[in-house]
Amino acid sequence: MSVKASKVWHPLDASSLPALLGGLREISGRLGGRPESWRIREVGDGNLNLVFLVDGPTGSVCVKQSLPYVRAAGEGWPMPLSRAFFEWSYFQAVAPWVAHFIPAMLHYEPALYCIVMEQLSPHIILRRGLVAGQRYPRAARDVAEYVALTSFFTSDLGQSLERKMALSATFSGNSALCRITSDLVFADPYRDAPRNRWTTPQLDAIAAEFRRDGALKVAASRFGHRFLSCAQSLIHGDLHTGSVMVTESDTRVIDPEFAFLGPSGFDLGAFVANLLISYFSQDGHASPAAPRAEFQAWLVAEVDVFWSHFRARYGELWRSQARGDAYPGDMFADPASSKALETERARILGELFADMVGFAAIKIIRRILGFAHNIDFEWIADADRRARCETAALLLARTMLLSPADFTTTADIVTAARHFREHSGSGRS
Ligand code: ADP
Ligand code: MG
Repeated sequence: MSVKASKVWHPLDASSLPALLGGLREISGRLGGRPESWRIREVGDGNLNLVFLVDGPTGSVCVKQSLPYVRAAGEGWPMPLSRAFFEWSYFQAVAPWVAHFIPAMLHYEPALYCIVMEQLSPHIILRRGLVAGQRYPRAARDVAEYVALTSFFTSDLGQSLERKMALSATFSGNSALCRITSDLVFADPYRDAPRNRWTTPQLDAIAAEFRRDGALKVAASRFGHRFLSCAQSLIHGDLHTGSVMVTESDTRVIDPEFAFLGPSGFDLGAFVANLLISYFSQDGHASPAAPRAEFQAWLVAEVDVFWSHFRARYGELWRSQARGDAYPGDMFADPASSKALETERARILGELFADMVGFAAIKIIRRILGFAHNIDFEWIADADRRARCETAALLLARTMLLSPADFTTTADIVTAARHFREHSGSGRS
């Protein structure tokens, strides 16, 4: 295939990729040797796209390409190719602050909707490591640092309104992916929707209860409304443990195709939800020979590591690097005003915490009663055992949504998580 022919969108494969990459001097130089000798594997285990790992004699790359439909659902669910553009644009937008936490971006091919990036190796998906019971001592702290930097510098605290509105103009085109979140995360789990599934019959009753619970649906919709209407910062939009690749000493965030200007707490909540999902799922993976109690204690402690680091960093960035149009620094120079501003900082951090709690709860529920599940629970083969873990997680999430005033510190989250785990019998095998 000629490079020219490849410029019209078509799904890439092992025979067309060498021609495309061979025509890009920097990439072929990185891979080394002749294109015919490159080893190509398609590894996309995600829901949406093609992902190839390409290895040459001197280097490697990863190629991610959009398909015109949702991969996990087949060709009957169309989806715009442009999501690769939004993924690329997000990485360009945040790279000035978090280049060390993302794969190096090497090339974007607009007509093919394809990104060539650094191949992360020997990194693995954090979720897979956690399912295996492996600790990653840096992960939660690094992701907190990542969210602090990206959410501060793309907000009206960290940048001018002109830059913020330019971001807004770019990412408001990503409506198709926002629609997925709006439908699948905030609505479907609480209504009869053909794409929903859950562990049946074990969870039939609780799923029906959730669909009938007016107060719960109002709380979920309140956060859905906030998701759509609070353009606080550029958010990743899908920051679960499947979007983080790790080694023991390195953490990288991938897959920001859902990016848009939304509430910063959505990224915080996504990560916390998945720490909690991992916590509840461990009882389904534990065995007498390989207990997981200490690992579970570590996992819930990471919720505090995560929030505490975020809170400290965000506050510090606001005190030292406020260049945005919100709370102009020169209005608060005198000691009394500076004190008033410090009180306001605490209030805004409280608001971010409340968003984190609410969005975390919603993200837990969608993984158990909605369309997209994850391996933390799915890999528990015994359905009764899986259902006990899932029920405990659902009960925690429901309480977080219905009684937000009871959740003002990470200790409140941890105490409630322990309570629901102990009372669900999910510790029994
Ligand atoms: P999708 O959007 O389709 O879910 P992802 O971006 O999550 O795709 O990528 C799917 C999988 O490909 C990841 O789970 C990971 O295993 C692998 N992958 C993605 N990006 C890289 C990378 N830069 N280096 C190595 N592997 C990667
Ligand atoms: Mg994705």
